[in-house]
Amino acid sequence: MSNGDDELARFLARFDAHHQGLPEFRGAVAEVAASVLPDIAADSALVRARVLERLTVPDRIIAFRVCWEDDAGEVHVNRGYRVQHSNAVGPYKGGLRFHPQVNLDTLQALAFEQTFKNSLTGLPMGGAKGGADFDPRGRSDAEIMRFCRAFMTELYRHIGPDTDVPAGDLGVGAREIGFLFGQYKHITGTVTAAMTGKGVLWGGSQVRAEATGYGVVYFLQHVLARGQRTLEGLGVAVSGAGNVALHAAEKLCASGARVLTLSDSRGTLEAGPGGFAAEQLARLKELRTGEYRALADCAAAVGARYVAGQKAWATSCDIAMPCATQNELDENDARTLAANGCRWVIEGANLPVTAAARAMLRSNSIVFVPGKAANAGGVAVSGLEITQNRMSLPWERADIDQRLQHIMSRIHDQCVQYGETPDGVDYSLGANRAGFRRVARAMLAFGIQ
Ligand code: NDP
Repeated sequence: MSNGDDELARFLARFDAHHQGLPEFRGAVAEVAASVLPDIAADSALVRARVLERLTVPDRIIAFRVCWEDDAGEVHVNRGYRVQHSNAVGPYKGGLRFHPQVNLDTLQALAFEQTFKNSLTGLPMGGAKGGADFDPRGRSDAEIMRFCRAFMTELYRHIGPDTDVPAGDLGVGAREIGFLFGQYKHITGTVTAAMTGKGVLWGGSQVRAEATGYGVVYFLQHVLARGQRTLEGLGVAVSGAGNVALHAAEKLCASGARVLTLSDSRGTLEAGPGGFAAEQLARLKELRTGEYRALADCAAAVGARYVAGQKAWATSCDIAMPCATQNELDENDARTLAANGCRWVIEGANLPVTAAARAMLRSNSIVFVPGKAANAGGVAVSGLEITQNRMSLPWERADIDQRLQHIMSRIHDQCVQYGETPDGVDYSLGANRAGFRRVARAMLAFGIQ
């Protein structure tokens, strides 16, 4: 064991003494700690102020009951949460997730990650995450509205443009943001930047819907450019068929790549070796917008083959882009990708690649780019939405796209600056070190809090 490994083991033992039953949060902390402990050891101010240890405890966790009535008059009780992780570099900022598996382990992990991701954008945004163990699938619009109203009736007192600015995430799309923001406006009598992801007609930003997926592709282009490569002709296996996946696929296709797959929780849609045509992707987007529609039911309409029970990673590709959900690419998938000649894995989703899979990718010299760097485009444009709201001045689409490209390029540069190793750029190391550095400096400036 090296000194670094010893230090990490001691740090995690202290974490374990106070946090039990939080495997996802522990995984996220361990990953960042491994990257930044050497920097901390080299700076006595960071050691003395116990900066990283402080970051393993969120500023606060808000938990509340969400009680609502379904269309048949039956009463339901859900658990709502907001984890306000750190506001060192700006108001808390992060999505709300409605999903039956939402729990405080996942939310603490995601809020912790969000702090470093937001820091990387260079914009004034701290980190948070929230949501409820509510499943919007199969619910009527009226039920969704009642749930969102009940949720916001509690959450509103904890958020605001200068304190905490939530956005959407899994299960919280345009419809839910509308109901949530409508209730916030109704209760507070203010129309402010208290939420992002709003409709463009009522305070939202152009390009917000596309930003995460487009941003991943902009980042990937910088990664490839370091090796004098472009996307032209490269085959990309994309997972998911939601907001991130569809916009990433659209931008990949427009950049000359071959998008070989899309997927959902039940199987994979295969395009064949030529990849999806732009028209097929546009049709798919049309079919998936609004009411929930399973991918299998779209296959015939877009002229592609749906393989039930198969993951996107079974398809031979140059690049794998997981854009669906956490832990969707495991060690076996990583082994399959390596055996099939994959050379780059770039995360569009949050934490989709397991720790064991990352190790497998590393041992096969596959370049890995973590979501906290690659998918930061969504929150970056959310930051631009806040700026536009504060200025009361919406910007043009092309202007925002330019700014998004600039931010992704800057994040890439920071990853290179802090992640350069004798074996090439370690993007996880670079993202963790650069993201942590800004937050840590701010925390030192504020003294012990
Ligand atoms: P959506 O809800 O729009 O789409 C998620 C997609 O993933 C659906 O097609 C869903 O299929 C599919 N999916 C779910 N589980 C699996 C699985 N196990 N295997 C394959 N596919 C699966 O979500 P988003 O696109 O908005 O978000 C995707 C990821 O990106 C999440 O991790 C989110 O936190 C992250 N992210 C999103 C941002 C954004 O701006 N939207 C910003 C930054 C990160 P099904 O319909 O069957 O459930």
